[in-house]
Amino acid sequence: MQQKTLVMKFGGTSVGSAEALARAIQIIREAKCDWDRIVVVTSAMAGVTNLLLDSAASNAGKAHASPLQDAENKLRTKHFSAAEALIKDNAALEETKREINALIQVFVNLCEAIQILGEASPRALDAVASLGERMSLRLLTAALNEAGIKAKGVESTEFIVTNSNFQNAHPDFCVTKEKTQELLNPILEAGFIAVTTGFIGANAEGVVTTLGRGGSDYSAAIIGSVLPADEVWIWTDVDGVMTTDPKIVASAKTLAEISYSEIAELAYYGAKVLHPKTIRPIVEAGIGLRICNTFNPAHQGTRLTAKGTRNGQVVKAVTAIQKQRLVTIEGRGMLGVPGVAARAFGAVASTKTSVPLITQASSEQSICFAVPSETAENVLNALEKTFAHEIEEDDIDRVWSTDDVSIVTVVGAGMKHTPGVAGKVFSQLGNHGVNVLAIAQGSSEVSISLVVEAPDTEQAVKALHELIVESGR
Ligand code: ADP
Ligand code: ASP
Ligand code: MG
Repeated sequence: MQQKTLVMKFGGTSVGSAEALARAIQIIREAKCDWDRIVVVTSAMAGVTNLLLDSAASNAGKAHASPLQDAENKLRTKHFSAAEALIKDNAALEETKREINALIQVFVNLCEAIQILGEASPRALDAVASLGERMSLRLLTAALNEAGIKAKGVESTEFIVTNSNFQNAHPDFCVTKEKTQELLNPILEAGFIAVTTGFIGANAEGVVTTLGRGGSDYSAAIIGSVLPADEVWIWTDVDGVMTTDPKIVASAKTLAEISYSEIAELAYYGAKVLHPKTIRPIVEAGIGLRICNTFNPAHQGTRLTAKGTRNGQVVKAVTAIQKQRLVTIEGRGMLGVPGVAARAFGAVASTKTSVPLITQASSEQSICFAVPSETAENVLNALEKTFAHEIEEDDIDRVWSTDDVSIVTVVGAGMKHTPGVAGKVFSQLGNHGVNVLAIAQGSSEVSISLVVEAPDTEQAVKALHELIVESGR
């Protein structure tokens, strides 16, 4: 009979304290009753990746290192107190603490090296950032064994092989498949739970890389797709994918089901609950995906489906990405000149910036698009260089960017078949005094994105969320 395989990923909050880890362990114990083979993917404990990266950054470019002692103590206290609460076997506890301490020492050494060099390369930052998952791996594996659940820990650097695009590395699925099966299958066949690190991989030379912030979801999808698993479950701190971020609107409701194309838009436009890269491997491998709450495991959470259901709601969810700027290139001399857009986006690409939104201009007198705020200065410089001649000739009047804006996106497959949604969205925002600076409709027709000024973000999300609530009545 075919053995059933489940990949479960636990996010930062889900492994963020002894209590949370105890819940995760109970969830794993229960899953063992229904599944023959289980792979557990762990994130760093909540707050640890930020702490590691902030310490590294504050040491770069400084004549005198900021005190590392503080960060070091925090890391030790966080991991050791959880280990002491969960691991009673003295030898196992000492071994776990020794391993975590060795990783904390690596952190100190790396930060000192960064301080001496005066800069932190993406490669060095990945080495630092990887330590969070490498520490939680030791902690969770030991705690599972203490709880009587046979578990073996393997770092994903051993089998997720990526390119060398540090901080946003891309896996080589062929090599990764071979290595993952070679390493994890014997562990699973021997009846162990395989525990591994989210977020990290290594390039062909074995140098540690990361898959991008929030990338542990993606790790679970990669592993699920290459094993292959029957299902991937993402355990987080909310009851699944909700109508909006419950931190913005407390009354947000869980969506029992959502389609791949809807979640793809939501994730891309800022819903942190799922990393946007997670969806593709899952869809291509044709495996099930579920998002559920470590702190409320009885709740069914959200199921991802190929088609999704029409739950009667045209707009299903609303999301926002903050800290963006709108860049505009304008000038009457652009009219009819071929290749302006190609050159503009070529210039943007040369700064390695990705463009989340391009507005549909009806004339050729301006091109307008959004970029992350921190990249705006570089983008403007690159554009001014590319169009230096046109600016000189007054064919282009100016290249400029706005202050910080947010992209607010409404998502729902039903919008495709329902006329007048954009009108409703606009009047709702107008009625709440929110000014719309730009608009773009997703080419898949399951989303409409609007650009609003940064201070209007919350009001816009709340107002649009009311549309969902009203149509659900
Ligand atoms: P984890 O550490 O488990 O990966 P994240 O913090 O990355 O958790 O993602 C979960 C968070 O995503 C939630 O706490 C919630 O605030 C946020 N979030 C944003 N949009 C949504 C949404 N539409 N549905 C659910 N959660 C959302
Ligand atoms: N720990 C990593 C981060 O904070 C990855 C993750 O949690 O998904 O970005
Ligand atoms: Mg996350």
